[in-house]
Amino acid sequence: MFNALLVSKDDEGKTSAEVTQMSLDQLPEGDVTVAVEYSTVNYKDGLCIGPGGGLVRNYPHVPGIDFAGTVEASDDPRYKAGDKVVLTGWRVGEAHWGGYAQKARVKADWLVPLPAGLDTRQAMAVGTAGFTAMLSVMALEDHGIKDGPVLVTGAAGGVGSVATAILAQLGHEVAGVTGRPETADYLKSLGASRIVAREEINETVKRPLEGETWGGCVDAVGGAMLARVLGQMQYGASVAAVGLAGGAGLPATVIPFLLRGVNLLGIDSVMQPYDNRLRAWERIARDLPMDKLEAMVRPATLSDLPALGADILKGQVQGRVVVDVN
Ligand code: NDP
Repeated sequence: MFNALLVSKDDEGKTSAEVTQMSLDQLPEGDVTVAVEYSTVNYKDGLCIGPGGGLVRNYPHVPGIDFAGTVEASDDPRYKAGDKVVLTGWRVGEAHWGGYAQKARVKADWLVPLPAGLDTRQAMAVGTAGFTAMLSVMALEDHGIKDGPVLVTGAAGGVGSVATAILAQLGHEVAGVTGRPETADYLKSLGASRIVAREEINETVKRPLEGETWGGCVDAVGGAMLARVLGQMQYGASVAAVGLAGGAGLPATVIPFLLRGVNLLGIDSVMQPYDNRLRAWERIARDLPMDKLEAMVRPATLSDLPALGADILKGQVQGRVVVDVN
């Protein structure tokens, strides 16, 4: 028997989440069974712990869109008992049972070997948010990061915190946009040299082009903020669009693309090909300072998850939550 956070739906369609004892034969089909050590809390987890946000297909459901642990049994030649592994994406924790349990059974294709230089706890301190932050930095690099400050929106959140630490480590000047002024010292400790208040940059576009300010941008917010940022990019600079914490709309004009050659790069972590996953995890192990990662971490257990899920949906989680499922 093992513990899992199980989300159930009653006859009236109301969901509730509680820690429950389960047996191995209740796990879904898959070729690798993993003894989960750590998971984490992402925005999507907040949706899946709660009413599901249209992401969860069937109830009862075990959420947790990412986990790290040790292979317990494998029918796939790529993995054997004792191997350390990480999982992000592939709709695990949404359409498939996820990491909020002491055991998980998944397809071998979805796993990545734990990168050298990281332990399972550190891998989940990074988690989907940090992995996606690294994908964003790689996309910006592929298109060329210009001189001058790189903007990170939603900076005190998970994606934003890791993006800030990586970009600063790589020698870029980082400006972090936050709606929480009390996080300024935290963001500076991660390497941000400038804090931009959310109100300064959150208005709808009035002029399609403003001063050429940012040499690149990792945007976790979307909506009016992304629209505004597009008009503030330097000539030929790129924005990695990662998230929608501020809205899914994009009330922008095409003028920054046409007159300044600005690039809007879409970042998806869920369906990333295996080779790029390996590349991103290797870069994380190399370019994310572990002391800064540790400064982002808040520990949690399975029973903390219902409250943390609600907090992340309200934008109230700072940095990265690491869930010790044992
Ligand atoms: P967090 O909640 O940790 O961070 C989001 C941050 O955005 C908040 O901390 C807050 O930062 C800011 N924010 C929240 N609400 C608003 C608002 N209304 N207007 C402006 N800013 C706001 O979430 P994550 O970092 O885990 O994820 C960020 C986004 O990225 C989410 O939308 C998530 O769904 C998406 N995502 C996408 C992935 C992909 O594959 N494309 C993978 C992972 C995440 P502050 O307090 O500093 O202002």
